[in-house]
Amino acid sequence: MLNIALFGPPGAGKGTQSEFLITRYHLYYISTGDILRREIQEGSDLGKKAEKIMASGGLVSDEIIVQIIEKTIENNPQAKGFLFDGFPRTYTQAYILEGLMLKLGTSLTCLISLEVPFEESVKRLVSRGAISGRSDDNEEVIRKRLEEYTNKTVPVIEFYRERGLFRAVDGSQAIDNVTKQISEIISSELQNNLFNIVIFGYPGSGRSSQSAAIAKKYGLESINMSKLLEDEIRNNTAIGQRIEEHNMKEEHVADEIVVQLIERKLENAQNAKGYIFKGFPRTLVQSYILEGLLKKHHSSIALAFNLKVPAIHAMERLNKRGLSEKGKHYDKSMTLMLRRFKEHEEKTIHVVEKWISRFGVIDIDGTGNFDEVFERISREIDNIIPNFE
Ligand code: AMP
Repeated sequence: MLNIALFGPPGAGKGTQSEFLITRYHLYYISTGDILRREIQEGSDLGKKAEKIMASGGLVSDEIIVQIIEKTIENNPQAKGFLFDGFPRTYTQAYILEGLMLKLGTSLTCLISLEVPFEESVKRLVSRGAISGRSDDNEEVIRKRLEEYTNKTVPVIEFYRERGLFRAVDGSQAIDNVTKQISEIISSELQNNLFNIVIFGYPGSGRSSQSAAIAKKYGLESINMSKLLEDEIRNNTAIGQRIEEHNMKEEHVADEIVVQLIERKLENAQNAKGYIFKGFPRTLVQSYILEGLLKKHHSSIALAFNLKVPAIHAMERLNKRGLSEKGKHYDKSMTLMLRRFKEHEEKTIHVVEKWISRFGVIDIDGTGNFDEVFERISREIDNIIPNFE
C-alpha cells in the first residue's frame, strides 16, 4: 500500500499537490481540515466542538481527530492507499497514525514536507482568504495557526526523521516543480517496495507474450497462471494430477490449487522487484485471494492493465495459434474457445470493473504489432516509475 502524509505549514500547497497525487496514484484522500469543515456545516456534535477552536486558529483535540480518521479509514476498506493532508499535526497523532496503519497491516510510506517560509504562507493564505471565504484565512488567525504549527506540529518531523520516513521538498517553487519533486520521491519509494502488475484481457489479446516481455524488461517475476498449471501437468506432480482430473471433467481448477501455486511462487522468488500476474485473478474470489496473499508479503497491486482487442481479433489470433505448433488443446476447439470468452465476460470483467475505481485499471490498445503494444504498456509503467528498469 502506498500511504503518504503531506506535511507543511498552512498555505504550503498541500491541497493543491493532493489533487495531483490522488489522480496519479489513486489514493484515498483524507484531509482532516475538510472533514471538520463538513462536520461544522452539518451541525454535528463533533462539528460544534471543533468550530470555535478552528475559528481561533487552534488545534482540535487529538481525541476528535482520532475518531474522524478511524471512521474514515474503516469506511474505506477498499482503498488502495491513503493520502493524509493536515494529519498528523501533533506528536500524539503520529503515534495514532502508526497504530491505525498497523491495524490495516500496512505502514506509512513516507511523510513529504512542503517547506515554505512563514511570510510566504501568510501571503498565500491572505490571498486565498479573499477567494475561499474561509474564516480562518485572515491575518490574525493565520498567525495563530502558524504559532500552533511551530509549537505542536513541527515536533512531528523528528518522529519521522527517526524512522527514516521524512522527505523534504522546497514548497516555494513553482507548482509544477514541486509536483515533479514529489513524484520523484514517490517513485523512489515505490522502487523500494515490490512493484506488482496485473494484466487483464480476453484470451488471445496478447497477455502472455506481453507479460513475459514486460517481466524481462523490468526485472519482474512473471506469474502466468495457465503456464503454472501446464508445468505441474508436464512434471506430473501431485497437483498436476489433480489439475488433469479437473480438466478431464471440464471443470475449473479449484481455487485452492491456484492459491498454492501462487503462494509457492511468492515464497520462492525472494529477490524479485515485483510480479506481473497474467490469468489471475479471474474471479472476484480470486481477486480477494490475491490481495490477501500480497498483503501477507507486505505488498499490494501497483498497476493493472486491460489489454483491449476486438473479440474477433482475439479469436483470429487463437485460431492461428491453434493451427501452429504452439497451439494449446483449447485453441483447437471452438467450444472451448467460446467457453473461455464467456468465462471472461461473465466473471473476469467484474473484477476489471471493480478494480477501475480501486486501482485505476489502465486500458491498453492491444491492436497492432507486438512492439507497438509493448511500447504502450512500457510508457504507462515509465510514467508511474521513471527509471525503473
Ligand atoms: P486545514 O484545512 O488543514 O488548514 O485545517 C483547518 C483547521 O482544522 C486547523 O487550523 C485546525 O483547527 C483543524 N485541524 C485540521 N486538521 C487537524 C489535526 N490533524 N489536528 C488538529 N486540528 C486539526
